[in-house]
Amino acid sequence: MDDRTRDSRDQYTFTDPSALYAEFDPKRQHQPEPGLEAELEPKPDLGEHTYRGTGRLTGRKALVTGADSGIGAATVIAFAREGADVVMSYLPEEEADAQRVASIAQDAGVQVFTIPGDLRDDAYCRELVDRAVDSLGGLDLLVNNGGKQVYAESITDLSDDQFDDTFKTNVYAMFWITKAAVPHLTPGSTIINTTSIQAYEPSPVLVDYASTKATINAFTKALAQQLAPKGIRVNAVAPGPIWTVLQVTDGQPPEKLEEFGESTPLGRMGQPAELAPAFVFLASAESSYVVGETLGVTGGKPTP
Ligand code: NAD
Ligand code: MG
Repeated sequence: MDDRTRDSRDQYTFTDPSALYAEFDPKRQHQPEPGLEAELEPKPDLGEHTYRGTGRLTGRKALVTGADSGIGAATVIAFAREGADVVMSYLPEEEADAQRVASIAQDAGVQVFTIPGDLRDDAYCRELVDRAVDSLGGLDLLVNNGGKQVYAESITDLSDDQFDDTFKTNVYAMFWITKAAVPHLTPGSTIINTTSIQAYEPSPVLVDYASTKATINAFTKALAQQLAPKGIRVNAVAPGPIWTVLQVTDGQPPEKLEEFGESTPLGRMGQPAELAPAFVFLASAESSYVVGETLGVTGGKPTP
């Protein structure tokens, strides 16, 4: 996409979805976890130039984990442009990415707070919620999006520590944060969890990760029924292959990067900017009758 197209396009512009982002051609690259988007080439589209808000989240108070980069960052930018104040959670070593995204979000004229910490730490998860409630003056929108994905060719290479870390980051943190958040949520509040196509189509090298994503789906559907009578809606978004730093921090074998996303019916990887509208929909009052749903954004990869 050249700059002229960028300037004139927003998420409401009709384009050929199979031809979008045709210039994206990532080469093999590697970073240690959690990785910095600032060092990723090419840079993912977070919707910086394209997301146009229409006031759909005016006055909402949102907490987003994994908010410094990728899908979480695109969601923060979209929420801010829709009028929500946002608290961003991420790891301390991601400060540079977080500050860039916070600054873009603040340009929308909303309040943005950053509370870094480690999701594997239950004390941080609880403190995150308390500090978010204090900063925002309440909470009515929670996005559990932070996640760990590291491939292992064989179960005999999958260390106990990695198995534990993947479950702590992807599942336990969602439990700890949600449990701490629910007492603050009033009717009309929404919780959105990030699951994955991996919940349905698990890769042989992602045994631990895929298992956490299937768990997130079941957690979402069970909790959604529990909280619906209180007027709190719980849903999930299931991304397909999306270009983020997760992929180059051993999210998958490096040799797979060059063909990333090509097996989808659209024939390409997705961008974080293409996920944000799904989160906005589930967060907004428009989805008032959508409960316990997993919204696939997979480029056409079938979901049940
Ligand atoms: P990303 O690396 O940009 O975001 C993941 C974030 O998780 C990191 O930025 C980091 O802030 C956070 N995180 C990881 N470990 C943490 C820890 N111990 N403590 C605190 N924060 C931690 O990558 P992304 O692809 O945008 O990932 C966001 C979510 O989307 C994840 O749940 C991931 O599983 C999910 N997902 C991604 C894809 C994809 O293809 N990129 C596909 C399906 C699902
Ligand atoms: Mg990051």
